[in-house]
Amino acid sequence: MIKIGVLGAGGRMGQAIIAEVQAAPDCWLAGGVERPGHPMCGNIIGEGLVICANAAPVAHKADVLIDFTTPAALDEHLRAAQDGKAAILIGTTGLEPHHHAAIDAAARTIPVLQAANTALGVSLLAALVEQAARALDTGWDIEISELHHRHKVDAPSGTALFLGEAAAKGRGAPLETLRLPPHESSPGARRAGGIGFASLRGGSAAGDHHVLLAGEGERITLSHVAESRDIFASGAVKAARWLSGRKPGRYRMADIFGI
Ligand code: NAD
Repeated sequence: MIKIGVLGAGGRMGQAIIAEVQAAPDCWLAGGVERPGHPMCGNIIGEGLVICANAAPVAHKADVLIDFTTPAALDEHLRAAQDGKAAILIGTTGLEPHHHAAIDAAARTIPVLQAANTALGVSLLAALVEQAARALDTGWDIEISELHHRHKVDAPSGTALFLGEAAAKGRGAPLETLRLPPHESSPGARRAGGIGFASLRGGSAAGDHHVLLAGEGERITLSHVAESRDIFASGAVKAARWLSGRKPGRYRMADIFGI
């Protein structure tokens, strides 16, 4: 049995992950954690199990923590995982360079998997985008657009940036050097070789991503559409199974799917 602790237990993803863990015959829910003061703290989520406001005791009981919360909670969650000798999957998006540095540091002592998107299809899409960007010269403009539900707080989405990194890798340069500012704030001719981003927000969309490669007289679009959050939850639980008992290090979803 793989013992899994869910951080952000009251959130949209946290609830989907708890349902996935509880339905899996080889997994056991070790606990659920919410921010202090959240109305769901104290809610029963299993036999003798309530949502608590402290990750530390859950980390001591769990083999793997699954974190879909907020960047502000990352340091505390990494510390809890290290103290409890638990692996951790970080699905939270909106991470800054200092968050990635903290993840790298934690990965020296525990297994850590950080993924802006835990769906199989997005790992495959990233590989296709990298291949396409490598094959096409800078006469092909790359634009990444995404649609998410009205509650999403970060933009562009972590997945859009992840796809941008794949495209930049295909072009042989870091995304920071190729990323274009939003076209509306920087009018004028488009810089050749640059990678642009556009975000839409509305309704209950779980996440659509489109990568447009626009050349002279022809266009290619590579897309992924998430029909529900269940694909992220099942990918997260799959990743937790894979992470359990692994040696310390920083891993990616592509390692799991063998892409
Ligand atoms: P949400 O707002 O519904 O849930 C986040 C939950 O985290 C909230 O209930 C909040 O109270 C809780 N939280 C905040 N601080 C906390 C703390 N210190 N300890 C414990 N819990 C805390 O958001 P969501 O839609 O579930 O998304 C959560 C994150 O996951 C976002 O960053 C989102 O972009 C990301 N996400 C990633 C994927 C993926 O595949 N990696 C998929 C969907 C969403």
